[in-house]
Parts: sequence; structure tokens; C-alpha cells
Amino acid sequence: MGCLFCNIVEGKVPAKLAYENEHVVAFHDIRPMAPTHVLVIPRKHIVGIGEATDEDVNTLGQVMLAGRRVAETLKLEEGYRLVVNNGENAGQSVFHLHLHVLGGRPLAWPPG
Ligand code: AMP
Repeated sequence: MGCLFCNIVEGKVPAKLAYENEHVVAFHDIRPMAPTHVLVIPRKHIVGIGEATDEDVNTLGQVMLAGRRVAETLKLEEGYRLVVNNGENAGQSVFHLHLHVLGGRPLAWPPG
């Protein structure tokens, strides 16, 4: 099986792409929690933000900027949220770093 999100990067598992470049792939979440819910992932396998190193600085920046780009492309003009869950208590369920891009409705704060 291997890593689900690596398989998406490699085109072995289908996904509805929103954006990609040499550093990242962005695709629509299979179980959206908002009208727009996209995941931005690095092509490089990083387990989570807790495992990222100084070597990943550029990759992490690329992930954040791709999140903004997705939000702009999908016209989330009223606002959007970028979220990284890390570890069990945060609800991380896929252990390949991913940035959630959520928008299209008012988002409550604090989160649940
Ligand atoms: P997290 O709980 O932060 O680890 O987020 C993982 C996200 O991946 C969840 O929102 C899932 O709905 C989403 N997800 C899991 N499998 C797929 C898939 N095959 N395609 C798109 N999104 C997925």
C-alpha cells in the first residue's frame, strides 16, 4: 500500500487536482468540511510538521504559498483558513504533511 498521499502524488490514486507545481500537489478533500476544502501536500514525503527539519524550509514555504494561491484561484474572497493537524489529539489521520484550505462559509473560532 505505502503512503496514500504519495500515491496521489504519483498518480496511482485518483484525486481531483486544484493546483500543482514542482514542489506541491493540491487536490479536493474526499470528505469536505466546508464548501471549499482542498489539501496541499509536498511532493516530498514528510510525516507531519512535527517531523519537518530545517532542510524542509523551502518546501514548507511552497506549501503555504500554494495554499494562498488555491484560495485566490477558487475565489475565497470572504476569507479562508489554512490548517495543519499534527498528531493524535489534533486529529491527524494521514501521515504525510498536508495543509487544509477551508473556505466558502463562516468558520467558527476556536475550532472544536
Ligand atoms: P487530517 O485529519 O488532518 O490528517 O486530514 C486528512 C484528510 O485527508 C481528511 O480531511 C480526509 O478526508 C482526507 N482524505 C483522506 N483520503 C483522501 C483521498 N483519497 N482523497 C482526498 N482526500 C482524502
